[in-house]
Amino acid sequence: MERTFVMVKPDGVKRGLIGSIVTRFEQKGFLLIAMKLMSIDRTLAERHYGEHREKPFFGELVDFLTSGQVCAMVWEGPNAIANARGLIGSTNPAEASPGTIRADFALDISSNIVHGSDSLESAQREIGLFFDGAQPPGLLFRAASDGASIT
Ligand code: UDP
Repeated sequence: MERTFVMVKPDGVKRGLIGSIVTRFEQKGFLLIAMKLMSIDRTLAERHYGEHREKPFFGELVDFLTSGQVCAMVWEGPNAIANARGLIGSTNPAEASPGTIRADFALDISSNIVHGSDSLESAQREIGLFFDGAQPPGLLFRAASDGASIT
């Protein structure tokens, strides 16, 4: 059993696609562990996408991620990281397989609706980045049967 970090990006939130995306994860059989709607500042966006710091699109990526609210989620299931990437589809929606979220809902690589962790290390790092510390009232966590913490 594995946990992965998934985030509906500002374009997906603005277009009202949170429900459609959550539905796909639920229909696949993933268990929703935590979710919150939030604004992220440039520091968090830069840390989240730190591996791309030297890329030419980094500035625009951070601008985009901080342009509106995101929906941060943790999903659990067998091979959750690879399976979630499969549901999400290729980075470039033009190359994503039909039936994947990016193929069905997006047109442009810079506005590709949703993020999913690409490795166990990334998943743990990203869950820690978005769900650590004091949580605001109303944040929903599914109680872990074994009493384990969110990270
Ligand atoms: N991105 C972009 N231009 C590019 C490559 C990536 O704007 O040429 C953005 C895109 O939103 C992508 C994000 O940077 O989702 C992170 O890129 P990565 O290669 O990690 O793809 P992902 O893991 O999101 O599929």
